[in-house]
Order: sequence, then C-alpha cells, then structure tokens
Amino acid sequence: MKKKISLKYKIGVSLLVFVVFILLMLFVFQFLLLEPMFEQYKISTVKSVADTVAQNIESDDLNDIIFENQTAYDTCIRVFTNTDSMYQPPNDQIGPGPNSGCILYRMNYSKVDQYITQAMMSDDHTYLVTENEHMIMPTANEDYRNIIYTKVIETDDEGMAVVMVNSGITPMNATTRTLKTQLLFIAGILILAVLVLTYYLYRQIAKPLSVINDSAKSLPEGKYEADETTNRYREAEELNETLVQAARDIQKADHAKRDLIANVSHDLRTPLTMISGYGEMMQDLPDEKTDENLQVIVDEAHRLTNLVNDLLDLSRMQENKIVLKPEVLDLSDLLKTQLKKYEVYTINEGYVIEQNLTDSVLISADRKRLEQVFNNFMTNAINYSGDKKHIIVSETVSGGKVRVEIRDFGEGIAPEDLKNIWDRYYKVDKQHVRVSNGSGIGLSIVREILELHHAEYGVSSELGEGSTFWFEFPIVKAG
Ligand code: ADP
Repeated sequence: MKKKISLKYKIGVSLLVFVVFILLMLFVFQFLLLEPMFEQYKISTVKSVADTVAQNIESDDLNDIIFENQTAYDTCIRVFTNTDSMYQPPNDQIGPGPNSGCILYRMNYSKVDQYITQAMMSDDHTYLVTENEHMIMPTANEDYRNIIYTKVIETDDEGMAVVMVNSGITPMNATTRTLKTQLLFIAGILILAVLVLTYYLYRQIAKPLSVINDSAKSLPEGKYEADETTNRYREAEELNETLVQAARDIQKADHAKRDLIANVSHDLRTPLTMISGYGEMMQDLPDEKTDENLQVIVDEAHRLTNLVNDLLDLSRMQENKIVLKPEVLDLSDLLKTQLKKYEVYTINEGYVIEQNLTDSVLISADRKRLEQVFNNFMTNAINYSGDKKHIIVSETVSGGKVRVEIRDFGEGIAPEDLKNIWDRYYKVDKQHVRVSNGSGIGLSIVREILELHHAEYGVSSELGEGSTFWFEFPIVKAG
C-alpha cells in the first residue's frame, strides 16, 4: 500500500494554504483595490453632496447647508446662480469665497466655463472629472488628484444654477508603504502561528491516533491496552472504545472457536469410538456379530453424518450460500406429515404428542428448510422433555398470521441461558448426554433459516415447567 502523507504535513499544508489565501486577499484589497475603491467612494460622496445642494438651491439656508456639507464630507462647494434662461458667465457666488484654499476658487474662469459647458451638453446636465491638479490648474504646486463634479440645474424662476463640488484624493503612497510593512509583519506572524498551530493540532489530533494505532497492533491476538492519558477528544475516545470492544469480541470469538473445536471433536469422537469399538468387538468375538450391535454402528454412523451435515449447513448459511426455494405450501399438511415420523416415540417410548392443528393454512416457505426447523424443535422437545414425555404441537391463526408452537413439559431453560441457546454450539448443560444426535448447533441453524424467511420466532421457558418454542409466518391467500 502506498504510504499516505502524514497528518502533521496535511494540517501544516492546509493551514499554510489558508494563510497564503488571507495574505493574498489582504494584498489585493490593500494594494490593488485601495485607490480605486477610495476614489469610487469619493465620487459617490461628491455626487450626493451636489444633489443635496441642488435640492436646496432656493432655500434660505443654502449657505448653512453648504458649510455643513463641506465639513462633514471633506468637500469644497461653489454655487453659481443666473436668473437668465440662457446661461451666462456666473454673476453671483455663494461659498467660502476666493481666498479659500479650494481649487474651485483658484482655477481660472475658462476652466470653470469649460466644465459648465460640458455639463450642459450632457444628457443629465452633469460633468465629472478626476484629474491631477496640474491639469486643472497649471500653477498648482503639488499634483494631487482631484474630483470635480459639475451639476447644472434649472431654478423655479426659469433661471439656471450651477453646483460644483470638489474633493481631493489624498495621495496614498505613504499609507501604502505603511501597509506594505504591516503586511510583511502580518505574514511573518501568521507563518509562525501556522507552525505553532500545526504542532499543537498534531499533538491534539494525531498523537492520540498514533498511540491508539500502536496499541491496536496486538489486536489480532485479542489484546488491546486502552491508553487513558492521550485521548483528549471524542472521536479518539470513541475509536478507543471501539477497539476495546473489538478486542473483547475477538477474544470471545476465539473462545467460541476453541469451544467449538473441543465440542465438535468430542461429539465426533463419541460415535467414532462406538463404531470402532463395536467393529473390533465383532471382529474379535464372532458371537457378538448380532443385528443389535450392527444397528449401533449404523446409528452412530448416522449421528456422525448428521453432525457433519449440520456443521456444513450452518457454515453455508452463514456465508449466505444458501438460497431459499420458497413455494406456497399447506403448513397443516406439512406438520401432519412430519408428526407421523414421531409416532414411533408414542408407540415405543410412551410419549404423548398432542396435536392441535388447523385443517389447512397456506404459507410461502422453503419446504425442506421448514421441515428442518420443525424437526429441530421436535427433536429438542423429545430430548429435553424428561420423564413427562408430553409434547403439544399447536397451530393458531390470527391477524393474517399462523403461529406454530411446540411445547414440552420438561426441564425448561434458565432465564440466563435463554438468550444464548440460539448461538452456535451453545449447550446449557455441557455434560448433557443426549438421547439422540444433538450437535448443539440445531437452534442456530433454525435461527438462520427463520431469519432467511423473515419469519418471527422465539421461546418462552421456565425451569422445571418446560419450554415453548414458536415461529410465525404470514398467511398466503389461496388462488
Ligand atoms: P442440541 O443439539 O444441544 O439440542 P440445540 O442448538 O438444538 O442443540 O439447542 C441448544 C441448547 O438449547 C440445548 O443444548 C439445550 O440446552 C437447550 N434447549 C433446546 N431446546 C430445549 C428444550 N425444548 N428444553 C430445554 N432446553 C432446550
């Protein structure tokens, strides 16, 4: 497997990219966009000031309004009024007067005239220039950039007025230089912060992970030493818990495997010992070659076959290799046919097997597998019914479902064992010597089959009173 890049570098690189992005944004806004944005802001200020003055051109407070706007918005305003309908050179001035430092009062008339003419020629009677001071007034000492906005308006008495608003754009060089130095500092600080943060985050995130990883190396043996000191966040804590659980599960599975091997070998050895024992005995003692002894060998061989078949079945089911072949079948019929096989127990061994079956009820199921389920329950009922030898098989229909119950009055199952009996190779009594070929995996096969059918199933039991195993199938309508 290709070695993936370490978390340490990933964090570092991500943070660095983030910082570079921020610096880039700062650079773009501070250097490239600062002047244009500032100029744009000034232009809109100048325009709105001109509009305010124009709206109040005939107001008695015009002078006050002009002064207010000049100070509030750092502008200079000059107003010309002319009552003639045709525009003549201005004959009246309102504003700070010719001695003010404002360029509008220092530039010569031809320039003023030029701006007013330009404004009159335009559609909305306005004219905006942004020029260096030298272009407006060649005698100027310094070359500041200036905005001059000229607005020509009609007055109520059919006359004309001109509002001129000016605002200087302060040179940005000094500011920009300061910002540049600041940006260098910011860049340095941020990069240092990235290094510190990377180290800190690495310690916080990756360190616990690598500690967990180191401890997890012995997981295949079912061992995991949870590290209590380094886990400082929830995800690492959860991972830790998952691994602790995994280690427990592995240990459990390992024990189960050992149990299984021990139990299976034990169950294989018993019939094999019987077969070889009886075989040798018949070889050595010709008188022992009886039908009964031969029957023991045949029975034990059957027991072996059944055990091996059960094991194969279970492993195939657990690997999902078994595909059901469902068909619509009469469950009552199936139960009756299967129950016939148990007549031998009633006749020879004194069992009482009661049957409360309905006439006919259709379900969809795999016939062979369902027989297997029922026979497993029946064999268990017979094996564990003790001296009572009383079994009731009943079939009840309700709410669109049919429920089959196999009840015995035998030894029962302790509450703490109830949840385990469906597990593979779980036997309540490990020393139990069974009448027939119980392998301890019957119920786990039953569970697999019923779950494949999506059928409901369960057991209720009380020690000394007996057990009732049941399963339920939805009823299929005929036709
Ligand atoms: P086994 O071959 O041992 O019967 P099963 O998987 O069929 O294996 O059953 C698992 C265990 O459940 C049995 O060993 C037994 O302890 C318990 N058990 C199953 N059926 C009954 C029953 N009808 N009465 C009492 N105990 C039962």
